[in-house]
Amino acid sequence: MGKRIGIFALGILLGSLLNNFISWWPKQHKDSPVPQAVCPHCGHPWRGLETIALWGRVFGEGRCQYCGDHVPLRYLLVELAAGILLVLAYSRAQSPLDMMRLGIFVLLLIPLFFIDLKHHRLPNVLTLPGMVLGLLLSAGLGQIKSAVLGALAGGGLLCAAAVITRGGIGVGDAKLQAMVGAFLGLRRMFASLAVGVVLGGIVGLILLALRLKGRRDVVPYGPFLITGALLVSLLFQTG
Ligand SMILES: [Zn+2]
Repeated sequence: MGKRIGIFALGILLGSLLNNFISWWPKQHKDSPVPQAVCPHCGHPWRGLETIALWGRVFGEGRCQYCGDHVPLRYLLVELAAGILLVLAYSRAQSPLDMMRLGIFVLLLIPLFFIDLKHHRLPNVLTLPGMVLGLLLSAGLGQIKSAVLGALAGGGLLCAAAVITRGGIGVGDAKLQAMVGAFLGLRRMFASLAVGVVLGGIVGLILLALRLKGRRDVVPYGPFLITGALLVSLLFQTG
């Protein structure tokens, strides 16, 4: 139990760093060369516990100390997601190296999810190093063949889908799914893709039925692929 609390706390800390990245990435060239903890409203730098949204919610009003605006809900969601997913990864992992693989995987998927949801982009700066790390860690676990096949099949299938759908699915989705294959191997890559496609279909139909989106609206596919990857990696057996 104590170890799980420690891992949850580590997840909250890492989640606050992910928040800085998610805010910084879309405007990186204008702002600063590296992600920094700053208020998204007034731009004032945050220090120490000010950077932890969960702390601000529990022990304060969840506002920026300098401008008084509410810290966006996304900051809290990212921290909690990182904490909870790391604890689940710990429960699921079969060895310390497997824990490293699962932990790095879920921490990469969180910013990809939120950036794709808002900006319809899946940054190469996450997916490409992710692919390499996934292959290296899978190699360390003796699963390199399955990882290479998973990366090739995931990337290849979605590249084909990107050509056929002409924009519904993008090249970013293909790189994401190649990364998923590198981390999870061939079998779980296919399982995660199936879950993602079914989820995307169901949510798409609901959005159409409720007239929240029209037939011509672009709905990013990454968040569904990512949800599929999270469900499969944290619920299914390795291999
Ligand atoms: Zn502020």
